[in-house]
Amino acid sequence: MLDSPLLKNCRGYINGQWLDADSDKTLTVYNPVDGAALAQVPAMGPAETTRAIEAARSALKTPAPLGKRREWLRGIVKALEANREELGRILCMEHGKPWKEAQGEVDYAAGFFRYCADNLEALEPRALKEKPRNCSWTVYYRPAGVVALVTPWNFPIGMIAKKLSAAIAADCPCVIKPSSKTPLTMVALFALLDEALDLPPGKVNLVTGSAGPIGDTLCDHPDVRVLSFTGSTEVGRELIERTALLVKKLTLELGGNAPYIVFEDADLDAAADNLIGNKFRGGGQTCVCANRIIVHESVAEDFAQRVKARASKLKVGNGMEPDTDIGPLIDRNGYEKVRRHLTDALDKGAELVMGDVPPSLENDWGGFFPPTIVLGVTAQMACWKEETFGPLVPIATFSDETQAIEMGNQTEFGLASYLFTADDARAQRAIASLEFAHVGHNTGTGPAPEAPFGGMKQSGYGREGGLEGLFEFIEPQTVPRGG
Ligand code: NAP
Repeated sequence: MLDSPLLKNCRGYINGQWLDADSDKTLTVYNPVDGAALAQVPAMGPAETTRAIEAARSALKTPAPLGKRREWLRGIVKALEANREELGRILCMEHGKPWKEAQGEVDYAAGFFRYCADNLEALEPRALKEKPRNCSWTVYYRPAGVVALVTPWNFPIGMIAKKLSAAIAADCPCVIKPSSKTPLTMVALFALLDEALDLPPGKVNLVTGSAGPIGDTLCDHPDVRVLSFTGSTEVGRELIERTALLVKKLTLELGGNAPYIVFEDADLDAAADNLIGNKFRGGGQTCVCANRIIVHESVAEDFAQRVKARASKLKVGNGMEPDTDIGPLIDRNGYEKVRRHLTDALDKGAELVMGDVPPSLENDWGGFFPPTIVLGVTAQMACWKEETFGPLVPIATFSDETQAIEMGNQTEFGLASYLFTADDARAQRAIASLEFAHVGHNTGTGPAPEAPFGGMKQSGYGREGGLEGLFEFIEPQTVPRGG
């Protein structure tokens, strides 16, 4: 079992109290490295979720001024900074990503709380300089109400930081449901919120347990005004349907299928270096990692060899060992999906540049999948159409700019994309044509707390980060005053 001062209460948190499930049932959290049980968390359901929503609704009666919210946001930054190693250790143990990378995720999370604290004045009431209808007009930025925040397993603290920072900034009480695969980092975060901040009861609530009953309650309860969800497009679609009747506001951060386009004039070493950082972060299990590498035919073989030279140096293993670069995949389903994408590509004619087909996994947990590169990928292959979520680098080729853009856009997703070229005019043409909300130009970097991030097309709607994210849980209220 995982022993940590931040996990003294491995329980849910409702109305300022640590609680077990009414049924006393629990879920086990496993280490993807070896399947060891790390901890049990309560298997809560509709009754506990309803109580959490009611507690949050009561907390709406004690609004906090901007100054207090800023103090809370800064308090969280301080607590995260002071506990980055321990939070990183818990995150590494339940997710598998290397400890050093997990600590980087804690820093990333702190950045969202810091950004909101530094920019809260954007939520001050705004007086219009115009005076339409002979009135003076003021816009107030009111909290939208109780918000539900549902997060995936692949960034156990990064994803909640985006949502919770904006909820606290907007003064929206929240009910949080973490992924059942990685709830321990969230429990640890709540331990810090409980110890370090004087949040009123009900302001932040945590329910752990199976998605179905908790998710349905969050969708069906009329007091939840906004549902902010990060996860698969498949579940996102279900949430749209389920919340339509109550006309809830949704923020949906869904799946991606990022193209990584390398033109013939690009700095190939820089493109390869960036690809390593982008593709293998989290073992390739990120929504923004390059999923389709689209390289000009004249440099594709050369580029593949440069990526291979770099990827060969990556060490796959237990994330708690200091020299590990890539940890295990999250579970058997994740591992078998990458394996299926690889075998499908090879069956349909792709050439293996690095790696081999690893054996099927016998256990349910984890699985170490080595970095693998294939060349000659086509649109008929599964790795082109679906998010692989693993350390497979599938390279396709193009012959001209128009084809490169068409290939990049050949997906129902529109989250992240990347292009590498030395020609700025070509880059500007390509950026304007790429139907993605994030386009890295000569960089493989993903989102940052200071910039809005979200999806186009079936990658969702709404934004997190930046000023746009700060307004996600706000209802503007307009007051014309006559006389
Ligand atoms: P998922 O299966 O959709 O689950 C995400 C969260 O939703 C989990 O907490 C899950 O709980 C919960 N959930 C599942 N079914 C639900 C339902 N019917 N109602 C309410 N909640 C429900 O996704 P995942 O496998 O955890 O995450 C990987 C996906 O997230 C990938 O597609 C990735 O691209 C996407 N993602 C997107 C972004 C972005 O910014 N756009 C960022 C990160 C990840 P349980 O764990 O208990 O099932």
